[in-house]
Amino acid sequence: MTDAPTTPQRPWLDVTLPVEERIDLLMAQMTLAEKVGQTHMVANIHPDDDAAEIASGRISSSLYASGATAGNERDAGVLVANIDAAQRHAVEGSRLGIPLLFGRDVIHGHRTVSPIPLGIAASFDADLAEQIGGVAAREAAVDGVAWTFTPMVDISEEPRWGRVAESLGETPVLSGRLAASIVRGFQGDDPSDPDRIAACAKHFAGYGLGAGGRDYDTVSVGENTLRNLHLRPFKAAVDAGVLTLMAAFNDVDGTPMHAHEHLLREVLKDEWGFDGVVVADWNGVGQIVFQGAAADKREAARLAIRAGVDLDMVSGAYLEHLEDLVESGEVELALVDDAVRRVLRLKFRLGLFERPYAGRPGASNAPTPETREIALRAGQAAHVLVKNEGVLPLDASAEAGSVLLTGGFVDDGDALLGTWVLDGRGEEVVTPGDALRERLGDRLTVGDGRFSDVTLMQARASETTVMLLGEHRSRSGEAQSVVDIGLPPGQLEVLRSVAAFGKPLVAVVYTGRPLDLSEVLDLADAVLVVWHPGTEAGNALASVLLGEVEPHGRLPMTFPLSTGHIPTSTHQRPTGRLIRADVDHQEGRYIDALTYPRLPFGLGLSYTSVDYGAPTVSAPTLPLGRTVTLAVTVTNTDERPCRETVQLYFRDPVAEVTRPLVELMDWALVDLAPGEAREVTFDVCAEQAAYVGRDLTTRVDEGEIVLLTGPDSARLQPVSVTVTKKDS
Ligand code: BGC
Repeated sequence: MTDAPTTPQRPWLDVTLPVEERIDLLMAQMTLAEKVGQTHMVANIHPDDDAAEIASGRISSSLYASGATAGNERDAGVLVANIDAAQRHAVEGSRLGIPLLFGRDVIHGHRTVSPIPLGIAASFDADLAEQIGGVAAREAAVDGVAWTFTPMVDISEEPRWGRVAESLGETPVLSGRLAASIVRGFQGDDPSDPDRIAACAKHFAGYGLGAGGRDYDTVSVGENTLRNLHLRPFKAAVDAGVLTLMAAFNDVDGTPMHAHEHLLREVLKDEWGFDGVVVADWNGVGQIVFQGAAADKREAARLAIRAGVDLDMVSGAYLEHLEDLVESGEVELALVDDAVRRVLRLKFRLGLFERPYAGRPGASNAPTPETREIALRAGQAAHVLVKNEGVLPLDASAEAGSVLLTGGFVDDGDALLGTWVLDGRGEEVVTPGDALRERLGDRLTVGDGRFSDVTLMQARASETTVMLLGEHRSRSGEAQSVVDIGLPPGQLEVLRSVAAFGKPLVAVVYTGRPLDLSEVLDLADAVLVVWHPGTEAGNALASVLLGEVEPHGRLPMTFPLSTGHIPTSTHQRPTGRLIRADVDHQEGRYIDALTYPRLPFGLGLSYTSVDYGAPTVSAPTLPLGRTVTLAVTVTNTDERPCRETVQLYFRDPVAEVTRPLVELMDWALVDLAPGEAREVTFDVCAEQAAYVGRDLTTRVDEGEIVLLTGPDSARLQPVSVTVTKKDS
């Protein structure tokens, strides 16, 4: 590692000065062309091909996208060598020596891969999410990556949309809290720490609402719904200090998000005080033209810089047109200055001026026992048991009966990594086959799960069958929308034939989205939804199947009854035909099907049963600014320990606008010994039930709030409190 030189000509290198002053000093020396250069991001920068462009100060940053061309990054050190070579042109070859910034999509792990974000959300475990971020940051930093494009906090209630896999689920509170943890995991207290990198909350805003579940599609949503639901996790990420935000590909009510001055500049930057970088999504500025909201790239650049997009990812619109737009008076210099200031602030905050080079001789980012341990815990926490009729856990003793493990995922490490894994390696994954062979030895038969006589003979000969079903990793993620959330073709046929033997049958579902599991739930005796669990997939599964750990994941998205029921989520609001205050009792629903969810948000069983007492509150009234304590007693009535996710929801029966039938407010992870009863308490303040009213400002009303506790969103017991004015 070489430190940047401090010279009298470069006073901004003086680390004793406050960052804003350093930026002033630097910007005072920048030409307009150099300023515009700081707003331009390229992909896959090449140290030789791009040397002249870098030295001219016309490039601010580069992302290394999937399939990067800058060499084969899978060969140790190639990525970092490229990064440092390119950096040398910037730091030593350019007039002002401004370092480049290197980003990469390190979404749920770099070399050590944790479950997909939807699986991380299933843990409901904020500490674990932070640890996952920390591991990913350190491994990515070893490769020279200073910035990642995660967490994705788009509220997700649309299982047809492939990107729900990258999301933290359907609720603003869970998404927001986990997003804040992930941001802390990546950035730490001080993002200039060599083991930390910048995070990016994306995609601002409304991306999860694309019409028909189609990726990139248009979004029609009012600002009240945006504020009450979709913007909240972004606000949580901003409050947690996220350094960057990414604009979304979609429009909102006709205005492309990359041109949305109201949401980007007025809400995010002015109202929330976000002082970090708004980065465009891939060619997002250029796409304003395809969206038909700008005649050409020049107009797109003008709209985007006005709207508040600071850094143009790969479209080139800023590089090609901003200088001219400023000189012609069509764009005020102050807008460009604001964008440049933000980009430089990010570079200063990351310590790039002090430590521009990434190379750490001898450093490795291969999975270690410590990183694998975190991935294992994360994998286990992503296992959601949604049905168990006495077959799990499997008997671990050597004398127990034979087990068939079959299905497409048995030994396919790559398929288990999940979407957006650029650097994790399939061969480093412990597969279910590996883990169960080791544990079950001769008791185990391994099959391929294809519809064949072999599979049927294997199932007939085995006492228990564990069938691995679901989606390959490539079937979820960006641009992977589906019209049917059923299992991929062929899998149900095999399951039906195996189930016909009438022997114990366990279905394990790998998936990036809620699937229609109705028939699987009918046919199998036990069903585990496990998402794509990552590097430790096999050990996670084996440990849960054999009861080495208790299953404790919870569904972070509702599983609808069928594709036709989409969207179904906890934040459905009452209609004027509400008969009872739950989702399945509103008139005007379907005449050809029931409407309740197939698997409700928050559901997750353990190998025990847990009883919930009725909740009580410490006082019937709740003055604004005060708290009441809600208490609920949970009892493990069985002979095994368990980890219970005690969930607290609320309903606001009368408000200025329609409010969700139930909304997650808080939760607690509670370890219960066999037979143990524990009183779990939540401090509740009225502000947790705040909402955005008709005038789009946040308000808390006086009057009744119903608090509900239980094991999931469908099994809740209420207690009411009355919110009153502040007492003196
Ligand atoms: C995705 C972003 C991603 C970016 C850079 C885009 O297509 O929407 O989520 O961060 O590419 O790879």
